[in-house]
Amino acid sequence: MTGKRTRLFYHLKKWLEIAALDYGMFREGDRVLLGVSGGADSLVLLDLLTTPMVHLPRFTVVAAHIDLGFDPSYGDYETLKAHLEERGVEHFMEKTDIGIYAHGPENRKKPCFLCSKLRRKRLFEIAAERGCTRVALAHHRDDIIETLLLNLFFSRELSGMAPCLSFFGGEFLLVRPLAYIREVLVKKYAREQGLPVIGNRCPSSVTSKRLFVKRLLDDLEKENKDVRDNVFLALQHVKPEYLLGRKVGEGLEGLRIRKRDIRKRNLPGKNRSNG
Ligand code: SF4
Repeated sequence: MTGKRTRLFYHLKKWLEIAALDYGMFREGDRVLLGVSGGADSLVLLDLLTTPMVHLPRFTVVAAHIDLGFDPSYGDYETLKAHLEERGVEHFMEKTDIGIYAHGPENRKKPCFLCSKLRRKRLFEIAAERGCTRVALAHHRDDIIETLLLNLFFSRELSGMAPCLSFFGGEFLLVRPLAYIREVLVKKYAREQGLPVIGNRCPSSVTSKRLFVKRLLDDLEKENKDVRDNVFLALQHVKPEYLLGRKVGEGLEGLRIRKRDIRKRNLPGKNRSNG
């Protein structure tokens, strides 16, 4: 069963195909394992990837759902199962306790890190078992922007979320076909098509740092509506020579300023503003 062909449908398809072409995400005959959580983003990507493409080669989508164990009744699991069967998509579903384990007493500080890592690992295993060489995730443009800021604010590094990333020496390609698409349009499309979106039952989903960054961006956009666009475009205009390299064209290795120096306030010139 396929949904209605609306203006929004064609708009999203166009930008999905542009991103896929820009990054060479798919090849003829590929088997693509698509991680489907059951949230709006992954259901929209499933919908878009399983409708005919105009400019992309033909590939097969295999949907994979890893239940994280937050819903003991498995009602959401059954809802998703029914949807995948109705769409006639090849699929694989698995019940795990990854989400519960990631929130265990020994891991209170970083549940998202462990949860994502375990889920990603399992997805690659399933991809290998099912003969898939591509693993597709439903991260959109807003996810990419937020990840850049999260890494900057909390992980002390300038890095983001690549639309296409090679793993295990090129054995697998991780692709994000929604990379150019705004979250608001993804959510709008999910509503327009009446997709059976499953809510996120994870306790960290309402307290995460990602939510903090999202709200910060919302606040900034009250002053300047282009803030998100500018951050996204900045990812294409990186000027390493204006970062902390010692000489033009040289890497950052060997710099000796560490977090403890900043904490101790013994950076050169630290007190200059007083005198
Ligand atoms: S919000 Fe919850 S489900 Fe999402 S990555 Fe974090 S721990 Fe996992």
